[in-house]
Amino acid sequence: MLEQACPTENSASDSSPSRPAADWQALATRVLSGHRLNMDEALSILKSSDYDLLDLLSAAYRIRRATFGNRVQLYFLMNAKSGLCPEDCGYCSQSKVSEAEIPRYNLLNAQKLLDGARVAAERQAKTYCIVISARGPSQREMNAITTIVPQIKAQYNLKICACLGLLTPEQAQELKACGVDRVNHNLNTSDQFYSEICSTHTYDDRVATLQNVRAAGMELCSGGIIGMGEQDADVVRMAFALRDLEVESIPVNFLNPIDGTPLAGAKGLTPRYCLKVLAMFRFANPERELRIAGGRELHLGSLQPLGLYPANSIFVGDYLTTKGQAPSADYKMIEELGFEVVHNEEPSCHITMAEPAAN
Ligand code: SF4
Repeated sequence: MLEQACPTENSASDSSPSRPAADWQALATRVLSGHRLNMDEALSILKSSDYDLLDLLSAAYRIRRATFGNRVQLYFLMNAKSGLCPEDCGYCSQSKVSEAEIPRYNLLNAQKLLDGARVAAERQAKTYCIVISARGPSQREMNAITTIVPQIKAQYNLKICACLGLLTPEQAQELKACGVDRVNHNLNTSDQFYSEICSTHTYDDRVATLQNVRAAGMELCSGGIIGMGEQDADVVRMAFALRDLEVESIPVNFLNPIDGTPLAGAKGLTPRYCLKVLAMFRFANPERELRIAGGRELHLGSLQPLGLYPANSIFVGDYLTTKGQAPSADYKMIEELGFEVVHNEEPSCHITMAEPAAN
């Protein structure tokens, strides 16, 4: 049985102003010199005082700047097949155990997938993420994806990230051959907590897919979800597992406890804790792309811009079954921070404030 999440109970920070401040800048200096963050240091970040939050973010920003400057990578998600999944992931509105009121449809046709690519390009996304709800792709779905990806790449200057569930070595090779650049497959949580959120596949199944993708020569996108009832140590173990797998891109989701899912009603995440999580991921994975993913607007609230000091990437537009904020709000946030969007052809370029065409 899944426990309801209450991260503040296991992650309570010592908010006493009299507590000596940690020297986050010194730790950042060590990380920039090659130090690998250890468990004690990572936990101390998650449990740090709210009084130290700006110091922590400032130190994480130094690490971010060393690799990414002030650049922000945008991603665009297409939910190419919604609901109908035979798995039982407790956080997911598309699982077989979910009673959430979401659209349910089979794989979109080629024109709709091309339309999504157009919207991704219009929104200045660097990567178009094609996501299906599935344990793994059927042969028909593999055929459709491997047919459409070359067409998308011929028409648009987009990188393609495919999220199709568990993959065999052969399926990974087929995706590589058709031009898929990267595969997303989230670890979601730690090895020790995984059985609390899913019983139909294992953490090791997920790691095996990541290994198959790597062996086929594609990049890895893998991250997790915070706020499912895990302990701080689980968050750290996941961050370290992603480091060990040398994942290129790490999306950090904050649980949106959707009505009708087993985790509906989970609460306890605070914007400050979410920022500490992002900072910890940056210290643990200093040179990896770090994306604030689902739950950004819900959990960071008015502190959203601060998330881009440790993180260097966001989704522009909606998530799989929940709404994101308007793209214009994302561009405005990036501009007001003095940051800039990365385009595929250029290392970076200044953004425009125009609202892109709607999906
Ligand atoms: S495998 Fe993916 S789509 Fe299916 S229930 Fe799990 S997270 Fe949701």
